[in-house]
Amino acid sequence: MRIIDAHVHLYPPEVGLDPAAWAAAHGEPHWAALCTRRRRDGRPVQTFPTVDHLLREMDREQVDMAVLQGWYWEKAETCVGQNRFFAECRKAHPDRLAAFATFHPSAGEAAVRDEIRWAREAGFGGLGELSPHSQNCRMDDPVLALALELAGEYGLPVNLHVTDPRGRNYPGRVETPLEDFQRLARGFPLTTFILAHWGGGLSLLEKDPAVRAGLSNVVYDTAASPLVSDEKIWRAALDVVPPDKVLFGTDYPLVLFPRTENEPGWRGILSEIDRAGLGEAEKTLLLAGNAARLLKL
Ligand SMILES: [Zn+2]
Repeated sequence: MRIIDAHVHLYPPEVGLDPAAWAAAHGEPHWAALCTRRRRDGRPVQTFPTVDHLLREMDREQVDMAVLQGWYWEKAETCVGQNRFFAECRKAHPDRLAAFATFHPSAGEAAVRDEIRWAREAGFGGLGELSPHSQNCRMDDPVLALALELAGEYGLPVNLHVTDPRGRNYPGRVETPLEDFQRLARGFPLTTFILAHWGGGLSLLEKDPAVRAGLSNVVYDTAASPLVSDEKIWRAALDVVPPDKVLFGTDYPLVLFPRTENEPGWRGILSEIDRAGLGEAEKTLLLAGNAARLLKL
């Protein structure tokens, strides 16, 4: 079965050499708090593979494509740097990698508009992963609004980080009230939103028809699912939302099963899905069909 991982993070080699020093030099403390963190037992929460390592791992675990997600950087220059790096990766491996472009509203209207136009020309599949709550940006910021409007016009889905309000605490956790995403979905009806991490539980709230009605332009990804949800989530969520609303994503290179694994990978999460009792049609859409449709892959 074809597999597209719709939520993968990747950084240039210089970041991986010494992530904490790189973050300090570039003014990215929030990223450092999340990504260079160690667990209580001292093991790192994630690794920093190169693009070649990522591709070898995808080959080994039979993952056809990875969608590279930008990060919700605090600095506009870091966003631009990451977009240029992703463009190079895509140029070298257009059959294996798609990419989302990131931006910071503080760059201003003209720069953000130019960057999104550039990203569209360069073949980017969407915008994200963004997190206004983590980027010190108001949800009603006019530059953010312009970007979301453009995304709708250009057919670029927007991936947003969502923290589950009922989820456990962790260093670097930022609250992202679910109402904020419901308001965005209503405010930008022509824009498709991909709410990461099962929408922080919003997917399950679609059980209420009144909630569901306001989320017709919203889909969800499953990034970091084993870290944020019980494995029953797969069946439970797909009993609430139709199978064309969920995109398989891992949050690679996060280590998804820290109790038993030291390395990121797909095997564990794919076996969760195998045990979930999903139908073939559901799995086909979840694992690749929805991403292929939305990102025109
Ligand atoms: Zn996220």
